[in-house]
Amino acid sequence: MTDTIKTDVIIVGAGPVGLFAVFELGLFDMKCHLIDILDRPGGQCAELYPEKPIYDIPGWPTITAQGLVDKLMEQIHPFKPDFTFNRMVSSLEKLEDGSFRVITDENEVFEAKVVVIAAGGGSFQPKRPPIPGIEGYEGKSVFYSVRRMEDFRDHDLVIVGGGDSALDWTLNLQPIAKSVTLVHRRPEFRAAPDSVNKMYAMQEMKELEFLVGQVSGLAGADGQLSSATIKGGPDGDVEVPCTRMLPFFGLTMKLGPIAEWGLNLHENLIPVDTEKFQTSIPGIFAVGDINWYPGKLKLILSGFHEVALMAQAAKRIVSPGERIVFQYTTSSTSLQKKLGVH
Ligand code: FAD
Repeated sequence: MTDTIKTDVIIVGAGPVGLFAVFELGLFDMKCHLIDILDRPGGQCAELYPEKPIYDIPGWPTITAQGLVDKLMEQIHPFKPDFTFNRMVSSLEKLEDGSFRVITDENEVFEAKVVVIAAGGGSFQPKRPPIPGIEGYEGKSVFYSVRRMEDFRDHDLVIVGGGDSALDWTLNLQPIAKSVTLVHRRPEFRAAPDSVNKMYAMQEMKELEFLVGQVSGLAGADGQLSSATIKGGPDGDVEVPCTRMLPFFGLTMKLGPIAEWGLNLHENLIPVDTEKFQTSIPGIFAVGDINWYPGKLKLILSGFHEVALMAQAAKRIVSPGERIVFQYTTSSTSLQKKLGVH
């Protein structure tokens, strides 16, 4: 085991909500250490839809998901948070003095008076479609998310699925791909009607191809696809050119080790109160997509609100007896000093 890393607050998950927690906790002088399974900050925003625009972040009429993560990183910079990436928090236990010990899958040990679980849907993994031999192409020519649109430029792209991700990427990648074939087992979609209408209009214009059916076989060599066979449609088996494939069969949200931390759970989510966003164990808070309370909406802005209230309660644990003064960043010179703007 390595030396124990001590901090004020350990944040499990560096998604948008975990990141903004650093800001709110920082305003109360609490030092944070974030731990994430992914190799960079941003959670779902960075991993699943970095280049998609988000339209419901207050004050940003439109901002890409990665743009939001970049802005959050800039905003929390004055508080100098520590990050440990590529690590899963595997255990969490309460110590005799009331603080907590967190251990990662690489046996790093962290201790803090407060733990904030900002773990989103837990460790999420894409569902693999039942296509023989697909494993050999994964990460080389079959991808389950779009990290960089440029990786699809000038490729014969086959997108499989009938939800928003499949439709959105069909529309977004069509202008740069060499060809786009959308494959779905039915002509009805589970996606925004506007996207579906746009897709059908583009099909009319022969800008893309939509095939009803299922991918039944792949051809290629050394992980590089060359074609895919689609079966089940009105024309029988059809072979289409395919050098990149994006299957969107949804994600398996695995709560992972969090289920073993002794917390009360509600359908794989962590129930919290709506005053402090504290879990069934005092000193452990849960914010963002991972928590549950009546009326909960899994929106980024909900998580931002939650961390503001959580930070006040966390301060009472980290610095008991210290007076908490409500202040505006606009008018408080002490807050502005912390932000480095005064
Ligand atoms: P996440 O972003 O899920 O981050 C959680 C992090 O915790 C992950 O990085 C994960 O790796 C890490 N983690 C989990 N378990 C562990 C562990 N044991 N150890 C270490 N790390 C762990 N929301 C909006 O408000 N507006 C939108 O327009 C919008 N559009 C969306 C579009 C798509 C395609 C998707 C998928 C989501 C969208 N959302 C949108 C939802 C939004 O992305 C989530 O509400 C938000 O990401 C939740 O943030 P979070 O920080 O709680 O969790």
